Amino acid sequence: MKLDYENRTVTYRQSWLSNYFDCPEKARRGLLEPDADTSTDAAILGTGLHAYAECRLLGEDRAASMAAALNALDIEFGQPHRIVQKSEVQVYDWLPSQCAAWERDILPQVGEVVAVEHNFNLSLGYIYDDAIDMEPDFVPWEIRLSGQIDCVTTDTVWDWKTWGREKPAWEQQRWAVQPTVYSFAATREFGFTYPVNFKFGAIIKAKANPKPQIIPVTRTDLHEQWLFDQLRGITRQALKLGFEDEWTKRDQSALCSADWCVFWDTCKGKYL
Ligand code: SF4
Repeated sequence: MKLDYENRTVTYRQSWLSNYFDCPEKARRGLLEPDADTSTDAAILGTGLHAYAECRLLGEDRAASMAAALNALDIEFGQPHRIVQKSEVQVYDWLPSQCAAWERDILPQVGEVVAVEHNFNLSLGYIYDDAIDMEPDFVPWEIRLSGQIDCVTTDTVWDWKTWGREKPAWEQQRWAVQPTVYSFAATREFGFTYPVNFKFGAIIKAKANPKPQIIPVTRTDLHEQWLFDQLRGITRQALKLGFEDEWTKRDQSALCSADWCVFWDTCKGKYL
Protein backbone atom coordinates (compact mmCIF):
# COMPACT_ATOMS: atom_id res chain seq x y z
CA MET A 1 0.00 0.00 0.00
CA LYS A 2 1.42 3.33 -1.00
CA LEU A 3 -0.31 6.59 -0.15
CA ASP A 4 0.54 9.61 -2.25
CA TYR A 5 -1.04 12.50 -0.33
CA GLU A 6 -0.07 15.11 -2.90
CA ASN A 7 -1.80 13.35 -5.79
CA ARG A 8 -4.40 11.68 -3.58
CA THR A 9 -3.60 8.26 -4.88
CA VAL A 10 -3.39 4.98 -3.00
CA THR A 11 -1.72 2.06 -4.77
CA TYR A 12 -2.18 -1.48 -3.57
CA ARG A 13 0.31 -4.12 -4.51
CA GLN A 14 -1.29 -7.53 -4.76
CA SER A 15 1.21 -9.13 -2.38
CA TRP A 16 0.55 -6.48 0.30
CA LEU A 17 -3.16 -7.00 -0.08
CA SER A 18 -2.81 -10.75 0.50
CA ASN A 19 -0.79 -9.93 3.61
CA TYR A 20 -3.50 -7.54 4.77
CA PHE A 21 -6.21 -10.16 4.45
CA ASP A 22 -4.02 -12.57 6.47
CA CYS A 23 -3.41 -10.00 9.22
CA PRO A 24 -3.84 -6.21 8.94
CA GLU A 25 -1.20 -5.57 11.61
CA LYS A 26 1.37 -7.64 9.74
CA ALA A 27 0.64 -5.57 6.63
CA ARG A 28 0.97 -2.30 8.58
CA ARG A 29 4.25 -3.32 10.17
CA GLY A 30 5.53 -4.44 6.79
CA LEU A 31 5.10 -0.86 5.57
CA LEU A 32 6.90 0.62 8.58
CA GLU A 33 9.69 -1.96 8.65
CA PRO A 34 10.25 -3.04 5.06
CA ASP A 35 13.70 -4.39 5.91
CA ALA A 36 12.20 -6.69 8.53
CA ASP A 37 9.45 -7.89 6.22
CA THR A 38 11.70 -10.31 4.40
CA SER A 39 11.12 -13.64 2.79
CA THR A 40 11.35 -17.11 4.26
CA ASP A 41 13.77 -19.56 2.74
CA ALA A 42 10.78 -21.75 1.83
CA ALA A 43 9.49 -18.87 -0.31
CA ILE A 44 12.92 -18.53 -1.91
CA LEU A 45 12.46 -21.97 -3.47
CA GLY A 46 9.46 -20.43 -5.26
CA THR A 47 11.62 -17.54 -6.46
CA GLY A 48 13.98 -20.03 -8.06
CA LEU A 49 11.11 -21.83 -9.77
CA HIS A 50 9.74 -18.52 -11.08
CA ALA A 51 13.11 -17.68 -12.61
CA TYR A 52 13.20 -21.08 -14.32
CA ALA A 53 9.65 -20.69 -15.67
CA GLU A 54 10.30 -17.16 -16.91
CA CYS A 55 13.37 -18.24 -18.86
CA ARG A 56 11.65 -21.27 -20.38
CA LEU A 57 8.64 -19.21 -21.47
CA LEU A 58 10.98 -16.66 -23.04
CA GLY A 59 12.60 -19.39 -25.10
CA GLU A 60 15.74 -20.25 -23.12
CA ASP A 61 16.80 -23.90 -23.07
CA ARG A 62 16.57 -26.00 -19.93
CA ALA A 63 20.24 -25.66 -18.94
CA ALA A 64 20.25 -21.87 -19.22
CA SER A 65 16.94 -21.69 -17.34
CA MET A 66 18.30 -23.85 -14.54
CA ALA A 67 21.37 -21.63 -14.30
CA ALA A 68 19.08 -18.57 -14.01
CA ALA A 69 17.09 -20.32 -11.29
CA LEU A 70 20.22 -21.10 -9.27
CA ASN A 71 21.39 -17.53 -9.75
CA ALA A 72 18.05 -16.33 -8.36
CA LEU A 73 18.72 -18.40 -5.23
CA ASP A 74 22.20 -16.88 -4.90
CA ILE A 75 20.70 -13.39 -5.04
CA GLU A 76 17.92 -14.20 -2.56
CA PHE A 77 20.25 -15.84 -0.07
CA GLY A 78 22.47 -12.77 -0.34
CA GLN A 79 19.61 -10.73 1.13
CA PRO A 80 18.82 -10.69 4.84
CA HIS A 81 16.05 -13.12 5.67
CA ARG A 82 14.85 -13.76 9.14
CA ILE A 83 12.91 -16.97 8.93
CA VAL A 84 14.65 -20.25 8.26
CA GLN A 85 12.38 -23.23 7.75
CA LYS A 86 14.77 -25.32 5.72
CA SER A 87 18.52 -25.23 5.36
CA GLU A 88 20.02 -23.24 2.50
CA VAL A 89 21.57 -26.46 1.22
CA GLN A 90 18.16 -28.11 1.14
CA VAL A 91 16.68 -25.31 -0.98
CA TYR A 92 19.49 -25.69 -3.56
CA ASP A 93 19.07 -29.45 -3.38
CA TRP A 94 15.32 -29.39 -4.01
CA LEU A 95 15.21 -26.78 -6.76
CA PRO A 96 16.07 -29.01 -9.78
CA SER A 97 13.30 -31.52 -9.07
CA GLN A 98 10.70 -28.76 -8.59
CA CYS A 99 11.73 -27.21 -11.93
CA ALA A 100 11.65 -30.63 -13.63
CA ALA A 101 8.09 -31.17 -12.37
CA TRP A 102 7.01 -27.76 -13.69
CA GLU A 103 8.64 -28.59 -17.04
CA ARG A 104 6.97 -32.00 -17.26
CA ASP A 105 3.51 -31.36 -15.81
CA ILE A 106 2.67 -27.67 -16.22
CA LEU A 107 4.55 -26.22 -19.18
CA PRO A 108 2.74 -28.46 -21.75
CA GLN A 109 -0.59 -27.06 -20.51
CA VAL A 110 0.29 -23.37 -20.56
CA GLY A 111 -0.92 -22.51 -24.08
CA GLU A 112 0.07 -19.67 -26.41
CA VAL A 113 2.04 -17.14 -24.37
CA VAL A 114 1.51 -13.41 -24.95
CA ALA A 115 3.30 -11.96 -21.88
CA VAL A 116 5.71 -13.12 -19.16
CA GLU A 117 6.37 -11.38 -15.82
CA HIS A 118 4.12 -8.52 -16.85
CA ASN A 119 4.12 -5.47 -14.55
CA PHE A 120 0.97 -3.41 -14.20
CA ASN A 121 -0.16 -0.34 -12.28
CA LEU A 122 -3.78 0.51 -13.07
CA SER A 123 -6.58 2.69 -11.82
CA LEU A 124 -9.46 0.77 -10.24
CA GLY A 125 -11.64 3.75 -9.33
CA TYR A 126 -12.14 6.79 -7.12
CA ILE A 127 -13.56 7.13 -3.65
CA TYR A 128 -15.52 10.08 -2.33
CA ASP A 129 -15.72 10.28 1.41
CA ASP A 130 -17.12 13.32 3.19
CA ALA A 131 -15.66 12.13 6.45
CA ILE A 132 -12.17 12.37 5.00
CA ASP A 133 -12.66 15.13 2.50
CA MET A 134 -14.08 17.96 4.52
CA GLU A 135 -12.95 20.78 2.27
CA PRO A 136 -15.70 22.03 -0.07
CA ASP A 137 -14.04 21.28 -3.40
CA PHE A 138 -12.25 18.11 -2.46
CA VAL A 139 -10.45 15.88 -4.92
CA PRO A 140 -11.40 12.21 -4.64
CA TRP A 141 -8.83 9.57 -3.81
CA GLU A 142 -7.83 7.30 -6.65
CA ILE A 143 -7.38 3.60 -5.89
CA ARG A 144 -4.80 1.81 -8.03
CA LEU A 145 -3.67 -1.81 -8.23
CA SER A 146 -0.17 -2.96 -9.07
CA GLY A 147 1.55 -6.29 -9.39
CA GLN A 148 3.40 -8.63 -11.68
CA ILE A 149 1.60 -11.38 -13.59
CA ASP A 150 3.70 -14.50 -14.12
CA CYS A 151 2.21 -15.40 -17.49
CA VAL A 152 -0.63 -14.37 -19.80
CA THR A 153 -1.72 -16.59 -22.67
CA THR A 154 -4.36 -15.97 -25.29
CA ASP A 155 -7.09 -17.22 -22.94
CA THR A 156 -5.66 -17.67 -19.41
CA VAL A 157 -3.84 -15.75 -16.68
CA TRP A 158 -1.28 -17.97 -14.87
CA ASP A 159 0.49 -17.77 -11.56
CA TRP A 160 3.19 -20.23 -10.47
CA LYS A 161 3.25 -21.48 -6.91
CA THR A 162 5.27 -23.80 -4.73
CA TRP A 163 2.98 -25.14 -2.03
CA GLY A 164 3.69 -27.44 0.89
CA ARG A 165 0.45 -29.35 0.37
CA GLU A 166 -2.40 -29.61 -2.09
CA LYS A 167 -5.05 -26.95 -1.61
CA PRO A 168 -8.81 -27.32 -2.01
CA ALA A 169 -9.82 -25.69 -5.29
CA TRP A 170 -13.01 -24.26 -3.81
CA GLU A 171 -11.02 -22.20 -1.31
CA GLN A 172 -9.10 -20.48 -4.10
CA GLN A 173 -12.27 -19.85 -6.09
CA ARG A 174 -14.00 -18.41 -3.04
CA TRP A 175 -11.30 -16.40 -1.30
CA ALA A 176 -8.12 -15.85 -3.32
CA VAL A 177 -7.56 -12.16 -4.03
CA GLN A 178 -4.69 -12.62 -6.48
CA PRO A 179 -6.92 -13.98 -9.30
CA THR A 180 -9.24 -11.00 -8.86
CA VAL A 181 -6.40 -8.48 -9.13
CA TYR A 182 -4.73 -10.18 -12.08
CA SER A 183 -8.00 -10.80 -13.93
CA PHE A 184 -8.81 -7.11 -13.56
CA ALA A 185 -5.41 -6.27 -15.06
CA ALA A 186 -5.95 -8.72 -17.93
CA THR A 187 -9.23 -7.02 -18.86
CA ARG A 188 -7.52 -3.62 -18.99
CA GLU A 189 -4.25 -4.55 -20.65
CA PHE A 190 -4.79 -7.74 -22.67
CA GLY A 191 -8.32 -7.39 -24.01
CA PHE A 192 -9.76 -10.14 -21.78
CA THR A 193 -13.47 -9.98 -21.08
CA TYR A 194 -15.19 -11.27 -17.97
CA PRO A 195 -15.48 -14.07 -16.96
CA VAL A 196 -11.68 -14.38 -16.92
CA ASN A 197 -9.93 -17.76 -16.65
CA PHE A 198 -7.13 -17.71 -14.11
CA LYS A 199 -5.03 -20.74 -13.16
CA PHE A 200 -2.64 -21.49 -10.33
CA GLY A 201 0.10 -23.74 -11.66
CA ALA A 202 1.48 -25.15 -8.42
CA ILE A 203 4.22 -27.60 -7.57
CA ILE A 204 3.61 -29.47 -4.33
CA LYS A 205 7.08 -29.44 -2.84
CA ALA A 206 8.88 -32.72 -2.27
CA LYS A 207 12.50 -33.66 -2.55
CA ALA A 208 12.24 -36.58 -4.94
CA ASN A 209 8.84 -36.56 -6.59
CA PRO A 210 7.03 -33.22 -6.48
CA LYS A 211 3.51 -33.30 -7.88
CA PRO A 212 1.65 -30.63 -9.88
CA GLN A 213 -1.65 -29.08 -8.93
CA ILE A 214 -3.42 -26.83 -11.42
CA ILE A 215 -6.35 -24.94 -9.93
CA PRO A 216 -8.63 -23.02 -12.29
CA VAL A 217 -10.31 -19.94 -10.85
CA THR A 218 -12.96 -17.81 -12.56
CA ARG A 219 -13.35 -14.10 -11.96
CA THR A 220 -16.19 -11.83 -13.05
CA ASP A 221 -16.90 -8.11 -12.91
CA LEU A 222 -18.73 -8.74 -9.63
CA HIS A 223 -15.46 -9.95 -8.07
CA GLU A 224 -13.88 -6.71 -9.28
CA GLN A 225 -16.67 -4.65 -7.75
CA TRP A 226 -16.36 -6.52 -4.45
CA LEU A 227 -12.61 -5.90 -4.40
CA PHE A 228 -13.21 -2.19 -4.96
CA ASP A 229 -15.69 -2.19 -2.08
CA GLN A 230 -13.11 -3.86 0.18
CA LEU A 231 -10.38 -1.43 -0.87
CA ARG A 232 -12.61 1.53 -0.20
CA GLY A 233 -12.93 0.34 3.39
CA ILE A 234 -9.22 -0.32 3.82
CA THR A 235 -8.38 3.08 2.33
CA ARG A 236 -10.77 4.95 4.60
CA GLN A 237 -9.47 3.08 7.61
CA ALA A 238 -5.84 3.87 6.74
CA LEU A 239 -6.58 7.55 6.08
CA LYS A 240 -8.40 7.93 9.36
CA LEU A 241 -6.20 5.80 11.60
CA GLY A 242 -2.81 6.49 10.06
CA PHE A 243 0.07 4.08 10.49
CA GLU A 244 1.54 4.91 13.88
CA ASP A 245 -0.96 2.98 15.96
CA GLU A 246 -1.51 -0.72 15.68
CA TRP A 247 -4.17 -2.24 13.43
CA THR A 248 -6.21 -5.38 13.96
CA LYS A 249 -4.10 -8.41 14.86
CA ARG A 250 -5.55 -11.49 13.26
CA ASP A 251 -4.17 -14.80 14.44
CA GLN A 252 -6.79 -17.20 13.06
CA SER A 253 -4.54 -18.87 10.54
CA ALA A 254 -1.37 -20.93 10.44
CA LEU A 255 0.39 -17.87 9.01
CA CYS A 256 0.35 -16.30 12.47
CA SER A 257 3.32 -18.33 13.67
CA ALA A 258 7.06 -18.14 14.16
CA ASP A 259 7.46 -19.96 10.86
CA TRP A 260 5.60 -17.42 8.74
CA CYS A 261 5.41 -14.03 10.48
CA VAL A 262 8.62 -12.02 10.90
CA PHE A 263 6.95 -9.95 13.63
CA TRP A 264 6.04 -12.98 15.73
CA ASP A 265 8.64 -12.36 18.48
CA THR A 266 7.39 -8.85 19.18
CA CYS A 267 3.70 -9.68 18.74
CA LYS A 268 1.83 -12.87 19.63
CA GLY A 269 5.10 -14.66 20.37
CA LYS A 270 5.51 -12.44 23.46
CA TYR A 271 2.61 -14.27 25.03
CA LEU A 272 2.12 -17.72 23.54
S1 SF4 B 1 2.29 -12.38 15.01
FE1 SF4 B 1 0.22 -12.83 14.22
S2 SF4 B 1 -1.08 -11.11 14.92
FE2 SF4 B 1 1.08 -10.46 15.10
S3 SF4 B 1 1.55 -9.39 13.17
FE3 SF4 B 1 2.16 -11.55 12.92
S4 SF4 B 1 0.38 -12.54 11.98
FE4 SF4 B 1 -0.34 -10.61 12.86
